[in-house]
Amino acid sequence: MNLCIVSGKGGTGKTTLSVSLAAWLAENLDDKQVMLLDCDVEEPNAHLYLTPPQVTQDPVSVLVPRWQKELCTHCGRCGKVCQFGAFAVLGDRIEIFSDHCHNCGVCSYVCPHQALPEHHHAVGRTLRGQVDGVDLIWGDLNVGEPRSTPVIEAVRRQAGAGTVIIDGPPGTSCGMVAAASGVDLALVVTEPTLFGRHDLELALDALRALEVPCAVVINKSLFGDAGVRSCCDRHNVPVLLEIPFRRDLAACSAQQGILHRFAPEFNALLAQLWNGLQQMARQGKVTA
Ligand code: SF4
Ligand code: SF4
Repeated sequence: MNLCIVSGKGGTGKTTLSVSLAAWLAENLDDKQVMLLDCDVEEPNAHLYLTPPQVTQDPVSVLVPRWQKELCTHCGRCGKVCQFGAFAVLGDRIEIFSDHCHNCGVCSYVCPHQALPEHHHAVGRTLRGQVDGVDLIWGDLNVGEPRSTPVIEAVRRQAGAGTVIIDGPPGTSCGMVAAASGVDLALVVTEPTLFGRHDLELALDALRALEVPCAVVINKSLFGDAGVRSCCDRHNVPVLLEIPFRRDLAACSAQQGILHRFAPEFNALLAQLWNGLQQMARQGKVTA
């Protein structure tokens, strides 16, 4: 199963749950490989919870065009095809704004004089290590790089067979779409606040557009739910687990603790969550 754990907003406990579920599965699943892909590449931190003793890494780069002035005849074709505003043809000069470039290669393709050859531009790296039965892979976006999707895609390309848990980036932007597209199931971790409900709504809408079946975990549950449950009902999405708002659990999360190792009652709660997810997978697609 490929399961992507996302959150409409940051700070809901998504990574603590992702890492804890992966560690619990590695301890409790027989004969199955468990992979954890940390696709929150702007701030990866799964490796702070599960620290592999040895780590290998690979660079991630994208192809961007570079203008060869001496080959250019100033025909203007390249400036007309770029859909991302990454090109400016200014008289006899061409400016390429690499921050806007989506690496589609079209400008190089249409240039009749090979005046826009592509070159590799480093955007980050992927890292990998084994720890406690979990094959942990994470992405690390270079500081200042505007687009996270190439690094997220590089992490996801390393997914193997068996159980794959993806810790997606918070929010509902391109990074979340890159992390959640094509997975078997998504789990949205939310909190019972107005902000939580608002961003849960956005996440469920995005997952429906991606046609990814999903379920919800309500974390930090205390008094009331700020409309989170009625939001789930409206979207016909089940709530598989409710985690209480407790000071010791907040401390566990802040110290990069694994939930069921810190509080043994989470063995039963994570089993309940996993059983619910498996039941959904058996029943087939249920979209938000
Ligand atoms: S590669 Fe694509 S996005 Fe980048 S400058 Fe060329 S046409 Fe624009
Ligand atoms: S398409 Fe090629 S030759 Fe034409 S303006 Fe662009 S870079 Fe120059």
